[in-house]
Amino acid sequence: MGTMDTAKRRDSSNTPRCLMCGCSRLDERAIGCALCGMALGPRWEECYVSEETKANLLSHSEELARMGVTLEKVSPLRKDAGTTMTAIALALAVADSLKGGVLRSLVIYLHRQLTIPRDEILRLRLTEPEEIDEMLKERGELPK
Ligand SMILES: [Zn+2]
Repeated sequence: MGTMDTAKRRDSSNTPRCLMCGCSRLDERAIGCALCGMALGPRWEECYVSEETKANLLSHSEELARMGVTLEKVSPLRKDAGTTMTAIALALAVADSLKGGVLRSLVIYLHRQLTIPRDEILRLRLTEPEEIDEMLKERGELPK
């Protein structure tokens, strides 16, 4: 845990995506996301989701692994003094095969079964935000 290795850097699923909305397009100054202006980050970097979402994902790690998504803790657990709370930085390792129908199933699973909000799903940086919305609308998860 902790460090990214060269194998991960070469992974073709490592398109840098916006940390907030998952968009991979740069703005005209090429410094931030074309949609919201936030910084882009590669796949192996931490997902900026809530602690609740992290805990939710971690408690379903086996199901997620079956769908081609491996959860990776990307920084050492930090224990705050006086509490047993731990802060976990979570990254997703996504199989290259995770495209089309599989990706759609995963997005629906996250939203419907795990009740992860749409904005949090975007921050997992699975694909373009428009595609996520399309998948959710198609399956009646979001109003059209
Ligand atoms: Zn963005």
